[in-house]
Amino acid sequence: EKHELIEKLRSNMSRDTWNNWLTTAQILELDDKKVVVGLGNLFIKEAVEKRFGSIIKETINNITGKPLEVIFKEIPISKEQKNAVNGPIIKNRPLKLSEFNPEFTFDSFVTGNSNRIAYYSALEVCKNPGKYNPLFIYGDVGLGKTHLLHAIGNFLMENAPDLKVKYVTAEDFMNQMMDGIRASDMENFRERFRRNVDFLLIDDVQFLIGKNTVQSELFHTFNSLFNSRKQIVICSDRTPDELATFHPRLISRFEMGLITDIQAPDKATKYLIAKKMAQMISLQLTDDVAYYLAEHVDKNLRKLRGAIMNLLLQSQISGAPVNIESAKTIVNSMMRMNANKVRFQSPEVLETVKIDTVIDLVAAEFNINRKDIFSSSRKKEIALARQVLAYLFKTTMKLKTKDISEKLDKNHSTIIHSIKKIEHSLLMGNEMIKNKINNIKNKLEDEKGIL
Ligand code: ADP
Ligand code: MG
Repeated sequence: EKHELIEKLRSNMSRDTWNNWLTTAQILELDDKKVVVGLGNLFIKEAVEKRFGSIIKETINNITGKPLEVIFKEIPISKEQKNAVNGPIIKNRPLKLSEFNPEFTFDSFVTGNSNRIAYYSALEVCKNPGKYNPLFIYGDVGLGKTHLLHAIGNFLMENAPDLKVKYVTAEDFMNQMMDGIRASDMENFRERFRRNVDFLLIDDVQFLIGKNTVQSELFHTFNSLFNSRKQIVICSDRTPDELATFHPRLISRFEMGLITDIQAPDKATKYLIAKKMAQMISLQLTDDVAYYLAEHVDKNLRKLRGAIMNLLLQSQISGAPVNIESAKTIVNSMMRMNANKVRFQSPEVLETVKIDTVIDLVAAEFNINRKDIFSSSRKKEIALARQVLAYLFKTTMKLKTKDISEKLDKNHSTIIHSIKKIEHSLLMGNEMIKNKINNIKNKLEDEKGIL
């Protein structure tokens, strides 16, 4: 069973990735809760975990159909091996790979009305760096933002190999910054992001919502690069305007350049994307199957890719070509997985989604805009909405006062005062506030099924 899993994993990954990084992979343990994947040495283990950890997890979950925990370990060196290696240390370093996914190129990106502008903006930025600065691309999850960032990286590596192009997710940026702070070596961090970069690609910037210190570091990075005419490209799942808790000065930087969106693809584009994805992995996908997938798989193109990878796997196992029946089976099983989605979401993601939902519900209940909550307005309803929000964060979501103060960008004592004030109103039997809070709680309860 372990061997089988490795074989399936291999057939699901690109051949280059496998040959460069994963030839030493073994399944050390496998039960219904977890898989332990062993890898050649510490260096390989760390590199694989960092680069391919999430994709390997996703693939293993797809293969086994269970949300297993995936743990990476270096394979312990046996005594015999140790003895054999007396003398020069064997360098098991794999070939250096570019940090860009070779499959995410401009060539492999299918354009349609939903994404054409984003595509051409990305290409334009490569050809005329600095012309639109920053380029800000937003769109829902799975619509091709990361693909475009990597396409920029791949294009520049090929056409302008001297340019220093750096790709970083906002989360990674934060972690590296934390490391810098911990090691009291911010110089090094700043050097890495300000001086040694000609082209900075920042993915999933919405991750920094509520993280004020990191935003401020990003602001300085941004200015430094911008002033030396370096190009910046930013991706986000919402518009600058909707990054509600972002510092206004950072938002206005984002708005300085070109903002483009990616929309959900129409059926025809989805059909072409399905064809392209199949072609990339040398899978024969007949028109009727591609059309069926375009019609039935969600707009999130990661799911489309998941379906196609599954079809490849099935046809390899059965030795039979893909047909509409196998496509139906896979689409149905994906829908069942969807129903169990909660189990696949990481707790952090769920938490963020929930916080966001509570903010939206409070804004709706008080008939104000989400943005107002984070404004400095002292209007009565707005101030009250803020207090209720702080109260719900504390009582329903059990957030710490410190975190609430960070999320709402208000100081500690204001938050404590807000919560006390609502508690007091409830004690005094204030019906209006009581009703509003109940309405919000009920709606939150309704959303639970979806979250
Ligand atoms: P996002 O970063 O917006 O969440 P991704 O860039 O990760 O989305 O895209 C999800 C998957 O869909 C990737 O496998 C990507 O290659 C594929 N994809 C997205 N848009 C296109 C497109 N226009 N043409 C081909 N593949 C696409
Ligand atoms: Mg992405």
